[in-house]
Amino acid sequence: MRGLAFSTVFEAAADAMILADDAGRIAVVNPTAQRLFGYTDSELQGITVEMLIAPRYRKQYRYYQDLFLKRPAKRAMSAGNELIVQNRDGKEILLDISLSPIRKKQQLLVLIIFNAARRRLDTEEALRISEERLRLAKQAAGLGIFDYNFKRNIIYWDKQMRKLWGRDSEKTVSYEEFVAAIHPEDREERRLAIEKAMDPTSNGEFKAQYRIVNPQNGMERWISAHGRVYFEFGHPNRLIGVTRDVTEQKQIQKKLQLHRDETENILKQQVAARTASAIAHELNQPLAAISAYSEVVLHALDSGSTSYSHLKRALEGCVEQAQRAGRSLHELLAFLQKGELVTERSSLTEIVYEALNVVYNDGYGRFHPVLRLQDNLPEVRCNRTQIQKVLVNLFRNAIEAMRNLDSPDLTIITRMGVIDEQKMAEVIVQDNGPGFDQSLVKRIFEPFFTTKPTGIGMGLAISRALIEANGGQLWIDADAETGAKFHFTLPLES
Ligand code: ADP
Repeated sequence: MRGLAFSTVFEAAADAMILADDAGRIAVVNPTAQRLFGYTDSELQGITVEMLIAPRYRKQYRYYQDLFLKRPAKRAMSAGNELIVQNRDGKEILLDISLSPIRKKQQLLVLIIFNAARRRLDTEEALRISEERLRLAKQAAGLGIFDYNFKRNIIYWDKQMRKLWGRDSEKTVSYEEFVAAIHPEDREERRLAIEKAMDPTSNGEFKAQYRIVNPQNGMERWISAHGRVYFEFGHPNRLIGVTRDVTEQKQIQKKLQLHRDETENILKQQVAARTASAIAHELNQPLAAISAYSEVVLHALDSGSTSYSHLKRALEGCVEQAQRAGRSLHELLAFLQKGELVTERSSLTEIVYEALNVVYNDGYGRFHPVLRLQDNLPEVRCNRTQIQKVLVNLFRNAIEAMRNLDSPDLTIITRMGVIDEQKMAEVIVQDNGPGFDQSLVKRIFEPFFTTKPTGIGMGLAISRALIEANGGQLWIDADAETGAKFHFTLPLES
């Protein structure tokens, strides 16, 4: 051992070593130092050690070197005298440096050892800082930590959890003691969650929400627990996780739920009211007609005029109106139940004629219909009955609006064309009645909005819903020069 050459030790040393002359110029560098600084031995030879020190520490290094050269003796630069070196990539490394004199004949050489002990301290410091960060984050998030050891049946818990569970002193607690504070109604669900996480075929994730009742003050809090089961040889070993007090969140959720329930109730009431109104809208007209026909029959019977054909016509009118009311109700209910919409290829012109016929047969009032069609109007895809219903509504509204005018020319113009870029057909229904008061335009599609003494205010609301269900839109032209001008669109048969 004695004969072991300096160079062998130098080469094998785990610490970085540099041998320099008394002017600080590097003579040899061991492999550890080459790795540490990122330079080869030959690259470093001849340059001063100072060049390896981070620039801002060079002056300090020179001071130590001068001190050393004045009284050469082994000394360390540790404990507050560390220096920062800089490697080839410019990375700074904090190191302890010790200097030892080596005499070779008349020459004084300096062995500089770079000790990485400080790096360990750095790691400890980093760990301490990261633990501190974790503690602060835990505190900020209001997290508690638990570690449940299945074999020993004990739970380690931290201060935050002990506070919630109403136990200040103990460090560990038995599982039974832990469970005692959990609300009896929530125990089973939590137990099942643990059981599921303990299943070795699962990913071990544990998630549960439960209430705990603080035994000291009887206060109830909601806890959200999240953890993971760790397995040893396929057996559950530990459950480690965090808990969070989510009481406030739960209260907010409860309030929101109450609010939602209330809103839903109001909506249900509105839907019920609208359904009832829509049914009334469908029955209003046929009932009025049946009533009129019945009066005719009664009157005829009272007055002794029993013309067979007269009575028959009136009764047939009753039957027809009653049947129509039945069909209308049936269709309306199907629409409200949002059953599948049955559509077919249809000619818009035919539907318009059918609607005009209905209005005529109802004896609704005199008017002059004008049709303006685009040539070769393509067919549309829609539910015929529904579109017919919309047109009947629009025609009736137009007739009612014009009825009080003394004008001999009560005209309803119906235009049909294609809006090319949208691949839609457009229908425009315009009357020459009084039109709309500008202040009311915005409201006419609202359910229950009516200006008529016996109106229900559902006609336009239902019409718009029907057109939208058929893939189109219904709107009013607020700038129409005369009367009221309604537009609606329908998809063309592709
Ligand atoms: P209702 O006919 O039962 O009043 P609607 O929803 O069909 O219900 O119509 C709502 C209101 O819109 C009517 O009361 C009327 O004031 C107005 N309105 C509808 N069509 C016309 C029209 N062609 N001209 C003038 N006003 C109209």
